[in-house]
Amino acid sequence: MSTETHLATNTTNEIASSQLNELVINWHITEACNYNCTYCFAKWEKPNELHGSLAAIEKLLDKLANYFIYGNPKIKRVLGYQSVRLNFAGGEPMMLGSTLSTALVMAKQKGFKTSIITNGSYLLKGRFKLVPDTLDLVGISFDSQHNSVRKELGRIDRKGHSFNVDELHLAVQYLLHTQKGLKTKINTVVNALNCEEDFFPLISRLSLDKWKVLQVMPTGRTDLLITHEQFSSFVQRHSNKGLPISAESNKTMTESYLMIDPNGRFYQNSKGVLDYRYSERITDVGVETALNQISFNYNRFKSRYYADNLLNIVGEVQA
Ligand code: SF4
Repeated sequence: MSTETHLATNTTNEIASSQLNELVINWHITEACNYNCTYCFAKWEKPNELHGSLAAIEKLLDKLANYFIYGNPKIKRVLGYQSVRLNFAGGEPMMLGSTLSTALVMAKQKGFKTSIITNGSYLLKGRFKLVPDTLDLVGISFDSQHNSVRKELGRIDRKGHSFNVDELHLAVQYLLHTQKGLKTKINTVVNALNCEEDFFPLISRLSLDKWKVLQVMPTGRTDLLITHEQFSSFVQRHSNKGLPISAESNKTMTESYLMIDPNGRFYQNSKGVLDYRYSERITDVGVETALNQISFNYNRFKSRYYADNLLNIVGEVQA
């Protein structure tokens, strides 16, 4: 049994009557990215991306806010969340420049908490202008302290540059200075090239709120895949050292996210592979109809968030 599944099983029973604080909606706003990670599953074959029109972005945000924040839908009654965070993912969302900045401002105005998942490269040298205090959480993906490993994974741009350890430190400092109360997170995809790496020196220096480690999904090169045992070993090696580690196996990731594609449709990856089920566009049919068109797994979603909230505590007592 994987670490995450183990935790989810234990904790769900213990706190079955308590409520989720936050609902997270992941909007993969664009497929475009300056990197080409070999394990990337953010592929939609160049869809008609909704962000091309600010009016369309606003319409989508209004529909989501009216349903999830201001309405009283079934998902709210079942999960009992108190707030809704809109997470902008990609592709690399910062490639959209001012469109993303505007979308963040709009999202805040409509009552969402906001977050971004980024590879970090646009946070350097003023390439992306973030409006102050529009971001509640940032997740930066970072897979290795070694240039050679990042390059082999495809985390490299056309000019041959790969976002490195020093740049990661600078980027986190920049964000903390411009975004009041910002929470910081690093995401690491654990695979065959980094599963023996020691991340303690890097993560302990950064003073993060969370270090999320994810087992690589079976969507790219098969020689990068690792077993549940290898993944658990990586997690165990980094546990009980005061790091804010939170682990997620690829089993738990299946059907546990509420996701919107660049086209503005809900989708679910039903079997942990590229086997997506899509709704129609949310701006065309509304949230309720679109949500009913995918099989959203309430229980796994709930388990994942309970596990996320408690993992640090459980990790401490596993010494
Ligand atoms: S940085 Fe993210 S979106 Fe870009 S290629 Fe890598 S995994 Fe895919």
